[in-house]
Amino acid sequence: MIADRARFRIARRIERLAGYRLPDRAFSGTMLTALTSGINYDAFDFAVREQLLSFFNDFLRCNCRDSPLCGCPERKFAQKILELRENGLDHRQIASFLLDEYGIEIFPADILSFLEDTVHVLEALSDISRLKGRQELAKKTDEHIRLIER
Ligand SMILES: [Zn+2]
Repeated sequence: MIADRARFRIARRIERLAGYRLPDRAFSGTMLTALTSGINYDAFDFAVREQLLSFFNDFLRCNCRDSPLCGCPERKFAQKILELRENGLDHRQIASFLLDEYGIEIFPADILSFLEDTVHVLEALSDISRLKGRQELAKKTDEHIRLIER
């Protein structure tokens, strides 16, 4: 999963505030739990606080009972990357956007292979949709493939 590749640049600072060991991975269960329970956001400087708030707003808002361990954060992160790609950013630009916006570090190469994998999945979906006579879905899928591949 692409979310497994995302690391917080300030993971060690979050760890110090939380007072227990945290992995660097932004979407690890312990990190998500730390961010949603009892971290004092005011302890960070303004820029970092803004990044964590964006992270919170974009990935951690859902009404699932077991939130943030429900899978929504990881899914929303993957969606965000696809959305950025479909808006015309390449894998390097996406990596620097994620760093600016959320303080997340991720290798452009990982983003690129995620995009390639996604295209393969969409191609399979498009073929199946056509076989099942779901032309509308096939067309929509092809449009996403076009936007990711261009
Ligand atoms: Zn959820």
